[in-house]
Amino acid sequence: MSTSDRFLTHSVHNQPTPLTDYNAWLTDQALIDAVEWEGGQWAAPVLSAYGELVGGEMMELGRQANGNPPRLQAFDRYGHRIDEVDFHPAYLELMGLATSHGVHNLSWVNPGQPGAHVARAALLYLSTQADAGTCCPLTMTHAAVPALRHAPDLATEWIPKVTASTYDHRSIPATRKSACTIGMGMTEKQGGSDVRSNTTRAHHLHMGEYELVGHKWFFSAPQSDAHLVLAQAEQGLTCFLVPRFLDDGNHNAVRIQRLKDKLGDHSNASSEVEFQGALAHRVGAEGRGVATILEMVALTRLDCMLGSAGLMRQALVQALNHTRQREAFGRLLIRQPLMENVLADLALESEAAVALALRIAHAVDCSGTDPHEAALARIAMPIGKYWICKRCTPFINEAQECLGGLGYVEDTELPRLYRQAPLNSIWEGSANVQCLDVLRAVHRSPESLQALFNELEAGHGLIPALDSEIDNLKKAFSQHKDMEAQSRYLVERTALALQASILLRAGEEQVAEAFCRSRLGGGHGLAFGTLPADISFQPLLERAMPAASAR
Ligand SMILES: Cc1cc2nc3c(=O)[nH]c(=O)nc-3n(C[C@H](O)[C@H](O)[C@H](O)COP(=O)(O)OP(=O)(O)OC[C@H]3O[C@@H](n4cnc5c(N)ncnc54)[C@H](O)[C@@H]3O)c2cc1C
Repeated sequence: MSTSDRFLTHSVHNQPTPLTDYNAWLTDQALIDAVEWEGGQWAAPVLSAYGELVGGEMMELGRQANGNPPRLQAFDRYGHRIDEVDFHPAYLELMGLATSHGVHNLSWVNPGQPGAHVARAALLYLSTQADAGTCCPLTMTHAAVPALRHAPDLATEWIPKVTASTYDHRSIPATRKSACTIGMGMTEKQGGSDVRSNTTRAHHLHMGEYELVGHKWFFSAPQSDAHLVLAQAEQGLTCFLVPRFLDDGNHNAVRIQRLKDKLGDHSNASSEVEFQGALAHRVGAEGRGVATILEMVALTRLDCMLGSAGLMRQALVQALNHTRQREAFGRLLIRQPLMENVLADLALESEAAVALALRIAHAVDCSGTDPHEAALARIAMPIGKYWICKRCTPFINEAQECLGGLGYVEDTELPRLYRQAPLNSIWEGSANVQCLDVLRAVHRSPESLQALFNELEAGHGLIPALDSEIDNLKKAFSQHKDMEAQSRYLVERTALALQASILLRAGEEQVAEAFCRSRLGGGHGLAFGTLPADISFQPLLERAMPAASAR
């Protein structure tokens, strides 16, 4: 005990040492196994380098960036409109580290490399653990690429800058930059899920150039060099690239009304904007706006899953680190049977989340060449987005409780993670919208349902609980009555079966068996910590444990 631990009235003991300077990649066996299983292991060196930063200096930068949120400077001191957003230096540093390690571009700068999306997905999952706010512009910048390809001239100009491995935060025209970031503007006051209700008008000027008049109610990362935006043109809803600056150096007429005062996501700026005759370049055909921007949204939905899986992993890491050091009633918390159950249950959920998210990243990887994977990606995306994001909030609350009162205090990571937790479920299509999208896939792309069952049946015969669940799901998908009203239950059961099938094939027997017994076998309650008592908790905990010395 050091002298600083001796107060006049008491001494400090039984307080854990915080987890610092650990490698978030090397200590995450579930992630390492999933990346290998899905073909991204070639990226281990960059993942390890980034994992060390995430478990070290980035965690502190994340704390600073979230404690010092961005501020809008709408006007300069003389009253000129400048629409600037000031960020804390920690935010800029986080963006620099993320872009130099490929969080926004690893999948694009390695064309044809199998597992490129998987490797980038792992980077995003790591990044979100230190700071989720920067992941918003990173994911939008990454996801913009397929949509930009619908406008070959714009693609030639913008894609090299969007995929550059640096971060240039300067407020200058994109023509004078070699690295750019992209945002997305769909949601308006009268409707977000129902984007067809957009009222922003696009007036044709000449040669693919338009003028936008209207607004966006949510417009994250307004500091981005351009946004992909939906607006109503003569032929209907259309996608546009709206640059922040005009080539002559003047601001484009995109006025930031205010920044949203949000529950969490504090390091990220989300704004309301008005287009007061803003210059816009058409991306894709007039009237094809939804189809065009959905190519971007598919990838941002994948990142919502990865983000939620990453938040869960970081919450689990904090819970394990605390309970392995804290005693109550004469025993370490982690050795108390009921706490073991809670932690093992959380470890299972965390592993199932990362396994499913990376399986879908693999499907994205192969979807250009393999029709089965393309069909699977179509239906598994909303299934995974729904389920993984839905699990995040109760999961983090449970992990928080493992730290007792300290988990509710800002000195720890848990309040930041808890405030962030609901967001991935809300944006990029809220939970109900995901379930409806699963039904849309079933009805409009029957091959996606076939791909789903092929995937599930790959685990057939490995455990009876999965076999009977597959039969139940087949029946459920063939009964059309009340399907919409029941779709949450159906999607939940499908997600669990998919996770079970993936875990069973990945071969980590104890994990797969415990997952199937609890999630498919009915031996689990509604809260975490309700695993059947005869499951061996220790191997699950050892697998999930972050060894402080692993660097
Ligand atoms: C922090 C933050 C940042 C954001 N950043 C951006 C951004 O950068 N760009 C952008 O475009 N948007 C952004 N959004 C907006 C977000 O995508 C929308 O809020 C979301 O899509 C829901 O739209 P809405 O808010 O209009 O809710 P609504 O569309 O009104 O939906 C409300 C609820 O109704 C449900 N619902 C809708 N339709 C149905 C139906 N048919 N059946 C059953 N239930 C239904 C929805 O699932 C939801 O739960 C952001 C949101 C947040 C919170």
